[in-house]
Amino acid sequence: MYEPVTNQQLLDVANEFGTPVYVYHAEKIAQQYHKLKDAFKGHPTKFFYACKALTNINVLKYMHQLGASLDCVSINEVKLGLKAGFEPKQILFTPNCVDFSEIVEAVDLGVNINIDNISILEQFGNRYGSGYPVCIRINPHIEAGGNYKISTGHIDSKFGISIHQMRHIERVVKTTHLHVQGLHMHTGSEIKDVNVFLQALDVLFEVARHFKELEFLDLGSGFKVPYKEGDPETDVVTLGAKLTEAVKEFEAEYNRSLEIWFEPGKYLVSESGSFLVKANVIKQTTATVFVGVNSGFNHLIRPMFYDAYHRITNISNPTGAERIYTVVGNICETDTFAWDRVLNEVREGDLLLFHNAGAYGFEMSSNFNSRLKPAEVMIKDGKAFLIRERDEFKDLLRNQIEVL
Ligand SMILES: *Cc1c(COP(=O)(O)O)cnc(C)c1O
Repeated sequence: MYEPVTNQQLLDVANEFGTPVYVYHAEKIAQQYHKLKDAFKGHPTKFFYACKALTNINVLKYMHQLGASLDCVSINEVKLGLKAGFEPKQILFTPNCVDFSEIVEAVDLGVNINIDNISILEQFGNRYGSGYPVCIRINPHIEAGGNYKISTGHIDSKFGISIHQMRHIERVVKTTHLHVQGLHMHTGSEIKDVNVFLQALDVLFEVARHFKELEFLDLGSGFKVPYKEGDPETDVVTLGAKLTEAVKEFEAEYNRSLEIWFEPGKYLVSESGSFLVKANVIKQTTATVFVGVNSGFNHLIRPMFYDAYHRITNISNPTGAERIYTVVGNICETDTFAWDRVLNEVREGDLLLFHNAGAYGFEMSSNFNSRLKPAEVMIKDGKAFLIRERDEFKDLLRNQIEVL
């Protein structure tokens, strides 16, 4: 039985390790992984954890233990994955606008490579010919996802090779004898509608007919998780049933079996994460009551960058009277986490919990304002482990060279 983390466990973590702190619940990650796996048990399907969401080495190792594969967008993520114990063949490298040398390095490491640019495809073909298989990232021009910044399939997107460039792709593949083992697309994040995936799949089938040796079709990610109360989650059970059926039908026509690949990031780690901060001050102005916390967009930028909504609860005073607050950080910039939020009365020193903070939380943190990056903790089997120390003052000067 899956047991959610309790407020008491989180209060204990804050007590032991201080705040601000990110806390990840391992069993929640496992629950999400198994939900996906079960939904696709009708067809050989692999899940490559898109580790840009959260790269702590312990999270990577845990994913590996669960049986997940790994999607990486930089050569350093690839190296982290290898360090965490993934086999090269369990890693997919999906870079964008990187120097060709980074791709050569990935070939030397033996990982799967996803190419999203004709110029690179041509260089790859010239260098490796049929000697190293590739996957091609297609841009299907399907508009999808929660926010323009995280939507990658549209016409102005820098990602993928346009389906309208098929003739050119074929020319390069044919003249350089490339072995195309897979086709990929990733249309964006937070896709609620299962039909968007099916539409994307139809486009991939169309492209697949041009290649004879495919082993997999990679549908990227886009799984939505609920942030607000009442928010939908992508219905993976329906998705699994429909996609599986469509792929089986296509296999009959294509005359080869095709694995389905996915690259979930947010779906696996978002809900496992809690971000704990302390209310430094309550500041009443003529217009609102601010809660100023000991954090800011230097630690959690999603609300400011993507207009993302994170549920916030006061775990120090869960039965206090409900009042309306504007929750802000301590950064010298407008860094508003939430306007007009109903919270149980917040007193200075109370601990606030940001829910669903596992994905793109710590990972996008910075030292802006010369503030220190928070600690990270993993709760596993009911025990809390410190998995990253909080920055110290000396970290701000690391790599700086004093010449004056
Ligand atoms: C970011 C990214 C993902 C993961 O997206 P989520 O919304 O976090 O699931 C998957 N594939 C690629 C290529 C990505 O860039």
